Amino acid sequence: MERIDLKGLPLKKLEGLIEGKGWEKYRAKQVMRWVYKGVSDFSEMTNLPQKLRRELKEWAYVGNIEIVKKHISKTGYTTKYLFKLDDGNIIETVYMKYSYGNSVCVSSQVGCNMGCSFCASTIDGCVRNLSASEMIDQVLKVQKDQCQKITHVVVMGSGEPLLNYDEVIKFLKVLNSPLGFNISFRRMTVSTCGIVPVIYKLADENLPITLSVSLHAPMDSLRNRIMPINKKFPLHELIEAVKFYVERTGRRITFEYVLIKGLNDSKLCAENLVKLIRDINCHVNLIPANPIAERDIERPKPETINEFKRLLEQNGIKVTVRRELGRDIDAACGQLRRKVLKEGVINPL
Ligand code: SF4
Repeated sequence: MERIDLKGLPLKKLEGLIEGKGWEKYRAKQVMRWVYKGVSDFSEMTNLPQKLRRELKEWAYVGNIEIVKKHISKTGYTTKYLFKLDDGNIIETVYMKYSYGNSVCVSSQVGCNMGCSFCASTIDGCVRNLSASEMIDQVLKVQKDQCQKITHVVVMGSGEPLLNYDEVIKFLKVLNSPLGFNISFRRMTVSTCGIVPVIYKLADENLPITLSVSLHAPMDSLRNRIMPINKKFPLHELIEAVKFYVERTGRRITFEYVLIKGLNDSKLCAENLVKLIRDINCHVNLIPANPIAERDIERPKPETINEFKRLLEQNGIKVTVRRELGRDIDAACGQLRRKVLKEGVINPL
């Protein structure tokens, strides 16, 4: 019999399974509390009858990912983790300590096939989607390792979350559940490169999460070069979907804009960006590009970044230049995983 992973399983489903095997419904809640405390061995679930613990071993298990590498930035505010999955694949997760709380940036796929030109995660394509259990475990393992309660979660690591929709939604619901992590939906962010039909679907889901859209260029000709997805869903379609999301959810959108030297950091780009988004309730995150060895990518000079920011602000757009939390540890999407895969060796902790 194929055993069921209890991590990420909706409570109702577990209640049904447990009742179906002749046990009281409340046992399901007891089990879930252990699971989200990080206990994966049924024999340690001490408030369950011995018989139930034995039975659970026969038809269920609790998925586990394993920390294989950990890099702490010099500032001490950022830690990047590499995790090994059951099938041997490697993913990365980033922990960031902010003044307002503790945040985890979670991967949603092994690699990615969206092909964004500034991103190391996409160089070898997408291997597979992550399960809700594997996403939950990234948060659990980081929380345990840091001995800090995680207060914010961003699905912005490797992968395009909207192409792994069902598992991502399951994951967010566990984060929100009092039996899980009890994190408000308002403290969760899902990032997308612009999968237009799924933005509409997410808007109708009625979860007050923040949607973060990777924009990176305000003209189709340029965005086509930086983000191939733009050829499928061009800017006018993306902006329409974003407006629908804001209207339907009442939430402010975040636009991510990686500034790449000589590519999308000109005055013309800033002016076109203003025209594109000025009537949207939004916030822009400017991210000075992290150089990537395999690609010809450099970050603009500080004065160029400041001028870009000033132009947006002059037009009433709220802007933040993203704090450099972990440049020394390859904290940008996919960089550490890539380095480790290239080196071909993982030394366990
Ligand atoms: S930026 Fe995001 S969507 Fe684009 S290739 Fe990287 S992981 Fe994929």
